[in-house]
Amino acid sequence: MNIILLGPPGAGKGTQAKILEEKHGLKQLSTGDMLRAAVAAGSEIGLKAKAIMDRGDLVSDDVIVGIVAERMDKPDIQKGVTFDGFPRTPAQAGALDKMLAGRNEKLDAVIEMKVDDEALVKRISGRFTCASCGKGYHDTFAPPKMAGVCDNCGGTAFTRRPDDNEKTVRDRLAVYNKQTAPLVEYYASKGNLHVIDGMAGIAQVTGAVEAVLKKVKG
Ligand code: ADP
Ligand code: ADP
Ligand code: ZN
Repeated sequence: MNIILLGPPGAGKGTQAKILEEKHGLKQLSTGDMLRAAVAAGSEIGLKAKAIMDRGDLVSDDVIVGIVAERMDKPDIQKGVTFDGFPRTPAQAGALDKMLAGRNEKLDAVIEMKVDDEALVKRISGRFTCASCGKGYHDTFAPPKMAGVCDNCGGTAFTRRPDDNEKTVRDRLAVYNKQTAPLVEYYASKGNLHVIDGMAGIAQVTGAVEAVLKKVKG
């Protein structure tokens, strides 16, 4: 099963993708995480992407499609993929259609997570991540059970993204509305769009995602 979580920055895509990976073995394919790994490694792609990401613009379609194609060649995705933060442009959506067709696979569902702009700004301003295992947290909405200690791995080092500040978030929202929001229509016209309320709590959103998966499994 292959699904897309479609939604603006801070909608909860990464949070739900990780839950789907644990529950159903669907691999989270986050182009943002892949780019951040490239930046940390100092690779050629990372060096080029850093400034673009810091200002909240989109990295070029060619680079993104290249890293996704490479990832899809790895053997650990037999159970399927949750695309998180990809596709973000009509060109990327077209490239994904081709990639899946070439593998005799399809998209089972595109789940649009709807969240108000003001809530997105709050979510992103309070977001942080465990430096060892990558689990995501929020200062107010999803703090660790014990302050300063990761629930998942016991790690005590956390990171905040340089692009998670109010100014860049507003720029990223504008980029989303202009370049990514048109994909909603694209998938609606193909008949696999499912819209869920992303404003609800994390567990409720997981319930809504599960309901979609059940429906498409038939
Ligand atoms: P995205 O991957 O769409 O950018 P994240 O999953 O990283 O979004 O979520 C953004 C922030 O909001 C994180 O700090 C996360 O803990 C928090 N969060 C995620 N889902 C919810 C929710 N349903 N309600 C409140 N906070 C949430
Ligand atoms: P969020 O979901 O919080 O917006 P991501 O981690 O998905 O953040 O993306 C962070 C940044 O990485 C984006 O602002 C953009 O610069 C770059 N990026 C990630 N995925 C893509 C993509 N599919 N196409 C172009 N740029 C991307
Ligand atoms: Zn951890």
